[in-house]
Amino acid sequence: MSTETIEFQAQARQLLQLMIHSIYSTKDVFLRELISNASDALDKLRLAAYQDKDLEVDTSDLHIALATDPGERTLTVRDNGIGMTREEVVDLIGTIAKSGTAEMLGRLQQAREAGAASEQATAELIGQFGVGFYSSFMVADRVVLVTRKAGAASGVRWESDGQGTYTVSDEPQAPQGTAVTLHLKPEDTEDALHDYANPTTVKGIVKRYSDFITWPIRMAPAGGEGEPETVNSRKALWARSPKDVSDEEYTEFYRHVSHDWREPLQTIRLSAEGTFEYQALLFLPSHAPMDLFMREAKRGVQLYVKRVFIMDDCEALVPEYLRFVKGVVDANDLSLNISREILQQDRQIQLIRKRLVKKVLSTVRSMLDDEPEKYATFWSELGRAVKEGLLSDHDNRQAILEICSFASTHDPEKPTTLRDYIARMPEGQEAIYYATGESRAALENSPHLEAFRAKGYEVLLLTDPVDEVWVDMVPTFEDKALTSVAKGEVDLGGDDVDDETKKGFDALLGWLAATLDDDVKEVRLSHRLTTSAACLVGDAADLTPTLEKMYRAMGQ
Ligand code: ADP
Ligand code: MG
Repeated sequence: MSTETIEFQAQARQLLQLMIHSIYSTKDVFLRELISNASDALDKLRLAAYQDKDLEVDTSDLHIALATDPGERTLTVRDNGIGMTREEVVDLIGTIAKSGTAEMLGRLQQAREAGAASEQATAELIGQFGVGFYSSFMVADRVVLVTRKAGAASGVRWESDGQGTYTVSDEPQAPQGTAVTLHLKPEDTEDALHDYANPTTVKGIVKRYSDFITWPIRMAPAGGEGEPETVNSRKALWARSPKDVSDEEYTEFYRHVSHDWREPLQTIRLSAEGTFEYQALLFLPSHAPMDLFMREAKRGVQLYVKRVFIMDDCEALVPEYLRFVKGVVDANDLSLNISREILQQDRQIQLIRKRLVKKVLSTVRSMLDDEPEKYATFWSELGRAVKEGLLSDHDNRQAILEICSFASTHDPEKPTTLRDYIARMPEGQEAIYYATGESRAALENSPHLEAFRAKGYEVLLLTDPVDEVWVDMVPTFEDKALTSVAKGEVDLGGDDVDDETKKGFDALLGWLAATLDDDVKEVRLSHRLTTSAACLVGDAADLTPTLEKMYRAMGQ
C-alpha cells in the first residue's frame, strides 16, 4: 500500500493542540512516556514468545536504545519489542481510545473559559490524564515512527507534525520493533537543561524517571562512536528491600503503572514467603481516577510471574470496589501461560487477593488513626467507591464500616466515622440515625429531622446513590441499629400522646385519611415533628424516596 494521509480523530486533534501549545513546565516527561511504551512493547513480545512457539523472533537481546543527533536536532527512542501492524498504528496512534477523554477535554474547555487559573488547571488535567505518545509534541515539531510487528515481513512508517493529519506508508526494511524519532523544536536550544539532543540531558532524565525499568536502556555515545552505555539500574522495585527504595523512585514507578502524573497518596508493600511466594507493590492515588464511575473503566493491578510481565489490569486480584488500587503483584509459582479465565479460579490468586484487600483496608485504617488529613483526602476522593464494598464484600464488611466517614448534623464541615458518632451519643439514644436524600441542603430542611434536632440526636446525612442500597443491607454497627429517620416508628422516648389530645385530632385524622386514601396507607399522630404540621413517612419495609425515584427512573 502506498502513502496515505489520514486525519486525526477529533479528540486526538484537540489533545495534540494542547501538547503543541503546552507550557507544561515539566516537558521532560515525554521521555518517560516513550520509554514506558517501549518497555510495555518488550514485555508484550517476551510474553508472546512464551505463549506462541511458532512466533519466530529473537528475544535474546531485548532492550531500549536512545540516540541523539545534535546536528539534526533529533532524539530517537528505539525498542525491539512487539511492534505494530499498519492497522494498529492507525488505531493506536491516530485515535484515543482512553475512557474519560471526552470528559477530560470538556473540563479543560471549562477551565479555559474560567480564565485566570487556566494554565495551572490545564497542567493539572493533562497530568491527571496521562497523554502518552502525544506528549512527544511538547518538544518536537515533527515525529516519525517506524515499526514492524513481530512476525511480520515488512514495516510501516508514520509521520506527523501534529497539525490535523498524519501519513502512513510502507517501510519494507524496518527492523522489528518500534523507533520513534523526534525532530526537536528549535527553541529548546537556548535552554541547556532541556536540550534533548544532548546525551547528558537525556541520561539525566532517564535516571530520574525511568531507572526502575527492568529492560536495559542504552544510550549511544554522542556522534555514535564507541560502545553504548546502559543508563538504568534495572532493579524491579518490588523485589528490593523497602528501606533501599526512595519516595521518588516509588513515585516514578507509580506514574509508570498508573498513567497518573501526580504523586501517589500511599505506597503499600506486601510479601509472603513459603508455599505461595509473592511480592506486591501497591499504590493508593491522591485523586479519583477520571473513569472511576464509568462502566468501561479498567481495574486491577499488573501481574508478573517471577519478574516476567504477564498482564495489565488483572481483575482477579482486586475487587471492583478497590478498582482505584494500582501497582504490581509478582507471584512465584504461577504458569506463564495462565489466562484471565483460569486466573479467576486459581487458588493462589484468590489467596493473594484476600490478603491484598485486607492490607489495603488496614492501611486506610492506619491512615485514619495516624494521618487524619491523608485519610480525609482518601475518603473524599475514593470513599464513594469503597462504600460499594459494603454490598459486595461480606467478609470485610466490618473492616469497611470502620473506615467509612459520613456527613452528619454534628459538624457541617467534617464527616464522621461511625465510631465517633457512637462516642457522641447522648444518654438514652440507642440507635444510629441516618437520613438519605439527594443533597445535604435538602436533608437539612427535611421535616424528618426536626424531632432529632430537638432531642439533640445526631443524624448522618447520606447523599451518595450507593448509600441508599447499603443501609438496607447493614443492620447494625457495634450492636447499634442503623435506623432511618424517614421509616417506620421512631422511638424518640417522648411522652405518649395522651387520650384527650388524641380525641381532639380524631376528626382531622379521619378526614385526612379519607381525602388522601389513594396516596397514603395511614394517617397518624406523631411527635416526630416539632414545627412542621405534617410529613410523609415510609413503612419500615418500604423503599426510601430516592430509591423509589431511582427505580422509577429505570422504568421499574
Ligand atoms: P498508553 O501507553 O497509555 O496506552 P500511549 O499514547 O502512550 O497510550 O500509546 C498508545 C498505544 O500505542 C499503546 O497502548 C500501544 O498499544 C501503542 N504503542 C505506543 N508505543 C509503542 C511501541 N513502542 N511499541 C508498540 N506499541 C506501541
Ligand atoms: Mg504509554
